[in-house]
Amino acid sequence: MKNDKKIFVTRSALPEFKDYCDKIKNIWDNHWLTNNGILHEELEANIKKYLNVNNLTLFTNGHLALENAIRVLNLSGEVITTPFTFISTTHAIARNNITPVFCDINYDDYTIDVTKIEDLITDKTTAIIPVHVYGNVCNVEEIERIAKKYNLKVIYDSAHAFGVDYKGKTIANYGDVSMFSFHATKVFNTIEGGALVYKDNSFKKKLDYLKNFGIEDEESIIFTGGNAKMNEFQAAMGICNLKELDNNIKLREQIYNKYLELLKDVKGIKLNYIQEHVKSNYAYFPIVILDEYELTRNDLFELLESKGIFTRKYFYPISNEIDLYKNCKGETPIAKDISNRVLTLPIYPDLDLKDIERICKIIKEKK
Ligand SMILES: *Cc1c(COP(=O)(O)O)cnc(C)c1O
Repeated sequence: MKNDKKIFVTRSALPEFKDYCDKIKNIWDNHWLTNNGILHEELEANIKKYLNVNNLTLFTNGHLALENAIRVLNLSGEVITTPFTFISTTHAIARNNITPVFCDINYDDYTIDVTKIEDLITDKTTAIIPVHVYGNVCNVEEIERIAKKYNLKVIYDSAHAFGVDYKGKTIANYGDVSMFSFHATKVFNTIEGGALVYKDNSFKKKLDYLKNFGIEDEESIIFTGGNAKMNEFQAAMGICNLKELDNNIKLREQIYNKYLELLKDVKGIKLNYIQEHVKSNYAYFPIVILDEYELTRNDLFELLESKGIFTRKYFYPISNEIDLYKNCKGETPIAKDISNRVLTLPIYPDLDLKDIERICKIIKEKK
């Protein structure tokens, strides 16, 4: 590795130290650390305003938000999803005693292939859980049509898609529920954290109970709820980071465009282009290594690593390639192929343009 500086695939956004200290001072004034504190309420209001949505509930992480989305919709039986995702999506289904059924993805944008959903529907199917992978937007109109026709619920795993708009509005406007992750590695973080956005006003109370042991009031407990509350330190981080989000997305856009410019003519590298009608959050920069490129994905991964550049095989392996889910129904050859070829490159707001040039030079010269 010699003298090369190490570059990681991401670098968590942090506010100015002083901003955060000012915000958490409040916690020492009140001695209120969690359970719907003042900062929790402030962050919830700020995110609702940012997304322009009516119903939003915060959680301690995205995964528990997703598990609770499944519970609040009372899903059972089988749920159609894709294996080309972070394992959290599949686990959230399985941990609710529901059988995941795997649908293949599109070659172009890696989201669920809507032409293959209907063949997977049985009398046990209760929902579709598609993923807005890398912030690429699923074919939300067609998914809505299918869901209506077969009376299915739709939960979007929007973990990658905070700040993404489709046709001028947040993508959280689609489906019954959308889950966002605010994990440290995501575009917007609350250290760990997550949220659900939903259409049905009655879910607000139910989700509040579900994330706090099912406790309605001091003497009545009405659900077998768990604990998934966001605390005041997380909320303070969110309040500070949200102020910087639009600026950070602009910086990411410049990096994204620089990569596109430098890599667009490299033979055998398939790039990810922003879809029509989509305002992206530029969360990830995935490249897919085709046969015409002389190195394999794993070769390129190792070459870059040997120079101190840490990319990520994201997503590899896919959910139905691991033992836990390999017997689940659904053929997904495209997901498997992409998973063997994909690499996400470093992208974060303060990534130096010189570093991008260095990364792209290695990819071009293959040495
Ligand atoms: C990050 C992520 C999750 C889980 O979110 P956490 O906040 O880490 O619990 C779920 N699905 C996808 C696609 C993710 O990338």
